[in-house]
Amino acid sequence: MTDQEPGFETLAVHAGGAPDPATGARQTPVYQTTSFVFDDADHAASLFNLQVPGFIYSRLTNPTVSVLEERCAALEGGVGSTATASGHAAQILALFPLMQPGDEIIAANKLYGGSINQMGHSYKKFGWGAKFVETEDTENFRRAITDRTRAIFIESLANPGGVVMDIAAIADIAHEAGIPLIVDNTMATPYLCRPFDHGADIVVHSTTKFLSGNGTAIGGVVVDSGKFNWMQNDKFPSLSKPAPEYHDLTFAETFGELSYTIYGHAIGLRDLGASQAPMNAFLTLLGIETLPLRMDRHCANAQAVAEHLSLHKSVDWVSYAGLETDKYHGLAQRYLPRGAGAVMTVGLKGGYDAGVKMVEAVELFSHLANIGDSRSLIIHPASTTHRQLTEEQLTAAGAGAEVVRLSIGIESVADIIADLDQALATAGG
Ligand SMILES: *Cc1c(COP(=O)(O)O)cnc(C)c1O
Repeated sequence: MTDQEPGFETLAVHAGGAPDPATGARQTPVYQTTSFVFDDADHAASLFNLQVPGFIYSRLTNPTVSVLEERCAALEGGVGSTATASGHAAQILALFPLMQPGDEIIAANKLYGGSINQMGHSYKKFGWGAKFVETEDTENFRRAITDRTRAIFIESLANPGGVVMDIAAIADIAHEAGIPLIVDNTMATPYLCRPFDHGADIVVHSTTKFLSGNGTAIGGVVVDSGKFNWMQNDKFPSLSKPAPEYHDLTFAETFGELSYTIYGHAIGLRDLGASQAPMNAFLTLLGIETLPLRMDRHCANAQAVAEHLSLHKSVDWVSYAGLETDKYHGLAQRYLPRGAGAVMTVGLKGGYDAGVKMVEAVELFSHLANIGDSRSLIIHPASTTHRQLTEEQLTAAGAGAEVVRLSIGIESVADIIADLDQALATAGG
């Protein structure tokens, strides 16, 4: 072995994995078991005291899920991670160590629609607040911070419109206020963007999308950079003060840079129960092995499609940060140098009716509510995911009546473009 740092492609195949010590199995086995036998009573006690690493019960940790956790931490350049049942579960688990009733987060107003629902409505039931700020001016984050703010939450590349955030500038604002920056890196994946390299503290993913990559498994993950000092102020008592929920252990003192991740398992998964199933972790690990190859193809195909559609007579505009004329192109070159991802929105000259006709006319594309599959996907938000919104809200969300969202797959690009052309011809406008 050389002492060279392994590259991203090597980590995607190997990080966290090793031949199974019991059988020699080369692929990570699916440890489809709820619980694990203790060596003896002392061993059981040390496991429960968090004094030795090991497995107790699959709500807390599971060997297959642990490989996924190590691999995601390695790919993001973090120190540890917590896998969860879904991307939405990851968002709750990410905030759980940070928040007390009455605390709040500041979030970008350009987020996945489901995240706006979750944060805007359901967080209130935990006594958590969420304030959404307009992201055109990064200083809006600073202006919104109060003494109850515990985190800033953004997406590196925002779903759906290809909005790229100035991660480094927003991280500086968070750190001046003594709070962490959490980045949802689902759309970019660590292959295109590594938020920790730009100052972010915590990354969350919906592994449902590009990481699993085949549209097979719902899942999420929370990754910690290990760099945020939870003891620097008294905003984070769950980590910096004795925790009554775990025999008065002070997590930040006992576990140092791993404290946030250990809290995520020992308290977060223990009490919220949103654990990832071993089979889903296995499927996601299979997907991650080919992440770099797939992302290169996703980006090259999306770039070609965006360039083609921006010149198409039925298309009013294309929002994709890979286009030189796009207002986020400069930020994309800095934060996403390998490509601007697979997802774009397209404004049709024919408006609402053209959008509905187009999703019905596609043949290669699938009309469904997902992104990040190896297959090309299409949706008309105004008649589906966003149908409960008013016209004003639709426009603010970048999902006006004329908008279709495309998630470009890894098929032959000529076939993707041909399908879009025939669907646009049918849709007219
Ligand atoms: C899909 C998605 C989520 C939610 O993830 P689930 O796995 O569906 O719970 C969160 N953020 C982004 C950017 C997403 O695309």
